[in-house]
Amino acid sequence: MASVVSKQELKSSKRQLATVIDLGKCMGCQTCTVACKSIWTGREGSEPMRWANVATCPGRGYPRDWEQKGGGYDDAGQPRAGHLTTLVECGDNFQFNHDEVFRQGNAQRKKLEPRSASGERPSWGYNWDEDQGKGAWPNPYFFYMARKCNHCSNPACVDACSRNAISKRDDGIVLIDQERCVGHRHCVEACPYSMIYFNPVSQKSEKCIECFPRVDEGIAPACNRQCVGRVRAYGYLDDEGGQVHQLVAKWKVALPLHPEYGTQPNVYYVPPLSPLAYDEEGRLTDKPRIPTEVLERYFGPSVREALATLQRERRRKQNGGESELMDILISRRWHDRFAEFTGEPI
Ligand code: SF4
Ligand code: SF4
Repeated sequence: MASVVSKQELKSSKRQLATVIDLGKCMGCQTCTVACKSIWTGREGSEPMRWANVATCPGRGYPRDWEQKGGGYDDAGQPRAGHLTTLVECGDNFQFNHDEVFRQGNAQRKKLEPRSASGERPSWGYNWDEDQGKGAWPNPYFFYMARKCNHCSNPACVDACSRNAISKRDDGIVLIDQERCVGHRHCVEACPYSMIYFNPVSQKSEKCIECFPRVDEGIAPACNRQCVGRVRAYGYLDDEGGQVHQLVAKWKVALPLHPEYGTQPNVYYVPPLSPLAYDEEGRLTDKPRIPTEVLERYFGPSVREALATLQRERRRKQNGGESELMDILISRRWHDRFAEFTGEPI
């Protein structure tokens, strides 16, 4: 008789790989998005997916309005109902009328226009609201939020799957077994980060696989490795010599996004410091341009202490002193960011 695997077994791992993303350095260049897209989501049916993505914050995000969709767990640890992400929310995969304008002799009469699959003019797309942000003159503000699957320690997607098709590996990576998946999409509803996508061609759910074939060869995931700004660190959470452990556990400046969703995510964020705001007379105040309450909404109350630590250590460095934290965040050698995952992609 085949043994029945418990959800607890499917959700457990021996160690946990994690990513730290420094929002103070991310410039929204989308290199991480493209690095992922060019490797993993070129298949038929996966075109609108961006397993790695970057959106302007505050904003509607990607997929659109993902923070309003529910999923995850409530304060009592019970699953919250979630919403099924739609193709339009993923960007509608609209195309431009290149053929009509450039190949049918219409270049003088027609202009390039986006068209969705239904032939309509799209009203939404990936980064539709790029760089809009919030705040009024003279204090407008925004920052970039780079995201991917969090390979959570308490993954709601695993609990939701009626086929036990989703599980964690020993290193903490969460994968969907494409053989077992039959496209019920309970996982799409359950993930509070909207990080699972449905492929209408294969009729199966797909998500970030943390580049596991690279990780198995000691190479960091493409989104992390290709980041041009040395924004991202990678490694095991319990590796005390690694930057991930130092930023999360030692310095406590890297925080999970929306910890209240209850899934214990393993992508951590260094919150962005910002210039000082102006008052109505145009004088500098002592308040940051990005209101701390805004960052608290994303990262919880611990963000206040993290910001205070970042400010203190930055001041120390500016005054000519030594700061281990600032040296980690600057990362003069890219190798230092990725612990044992410094192998070269083949
Ligand atoms: S982010 Fe979503 S898809 Fe990824 S492990 Fe967590 S619950 Fe599952
Ligand atoms: S590649 Fe790095 S700097 Fe560019 S958007 Fe991604 S995380 Fe930000």
